[in-house]
Amino acid sequence: MLRDTYDRPVKDLRISVTDRCNFRCTYCMPFDDYEWADKKEILTFEEIARLASLFVQLGVDKIRLTGGEPLLRRGLEKLIRKLSSLNGVKDLCLTTNGSLLAEKVYALQFAGLKRVNVSLDTLNPEKFARIRRRGNLAKVLEGLFAAKSYGLDPIKVNAVIERGVNDDDIVDLVEFSRKNGFTIRFIEYMDVGNSNNWTSEKLVSKKEILAIINARYPLREVGRDKGSAPSVDYEFIDGSGELGVIASVSEPFCSSCSRARLTADGKLATCLFSATGHDLKALLRNGATDEEIMEVISAIWRKRTDRYSDERLVAMNSARGYRAKDHKKIEMINLGG
Ligand code: SAM
Ligand code: SF4
Ligand code: SF4
Repeated sequence: MLRDTYDRPVKDLRISVTDRCNFRCTYCMPFDDYEWADKKEILTFEEIARLASLFVQLGVDKIRLTGGEPLLRRGLEKLIRKLSSLNGVKDLCLTTNGSLLAEKVYALQFAGLKRVNVSLDTLNPEKFARIRRRGNLAKVLEGLFAAKSYGLDPIKVNAVIERGVNDDDIVDLVEFSRKNGFTIRFIEYMDVGNSNNWTSEKLVSKKEILAIINARYPLREVGRDKGSAPSVDYEFIDGSGELGVIASVSEPFCSSCSRARLTADGKLATCLFSATGHDLKALLRNGATDEEIMEVISAIWRKRTDRYSDERLVAMNSARGYRAKDHKKIEMINLGG
């Protein structure tokens, strides 16, 4: 089996299907204007499906479609159909801001999508407008409930928590999710990309998030799914569901990271915080065979040494400290979260 220098296999493939987004979330992509990748540079569905099948042959059994906003990619259901019929894919998931979910969920589900993650950081419409800077809360909620009515399961709600912005929304989000049968996952605010002005003061740690929830709704730790998932899961002691916390900053999980990322323009990134990617599109478009492409991917993975979040934590705890701005990274909208 293919393993990197720390003996980590490649199990998950996150595919950004577009760098375009109809939101401008302050924590991800705060620019008003952005130079989107040229359409001809974006991988076609055929190219994505071919690469995905090669990754599956190398050990991937879980695929997530993301972006940018993946539902902006016209005909996404065609890609879902191709990927859901790949032998060896045990889990196919979509992460979306939810704004177009209500109108697209039927086609997505019909094409084979079984589950979805929807980003939602607050239930307050004004605050939603401040954080996400485009779109509106009502459409996202409509999308969530449409997904529920079409039987997608589980439906996970992703909430990025930023100090002084939405740390006072944690309990509301928990209650909303418990009431409606969604699994909420709180995500520590990270220094993704180059422009969200992250500082450690803006971080609300997993410990703090759990303390806030536990004071109202006592929790019991369940652990990480398969021992390696980013989220540490908890169940409510009263039996009414579960939640997760993704503590990439305060409790990094690089030692078990089996995630590869394919950018919208066809680059392989081996870490969410990579500065550059490896150009697989050039291989595809220059006529490389499947064997040649698999050999290139294998060579990249075998040399992989990424453990950015582990290193960040060491730096944060050192006298010198950690400055996000010192590290240039691929933008999150291109890389896929
Ligand atoms: N546009 C889709 C969405 O918002 O769900 C998919 C792409 S988005 C980049 C994927 C995930 O990354 C979302 O759940 C989003 O909340 C998360 N994310 C973006 N910026 C983040 C940050 N600075 N820290 C933690 N998570 C972040
Ligand atoms: Fe927000 Fe997702 Fe768009 Fe980033 S990609 S700006 S998280 S909606
Ligand atoms: Fe994986 Fe990089 Fe995140 Fe560590 S920082 S868990 S290596 S993506």
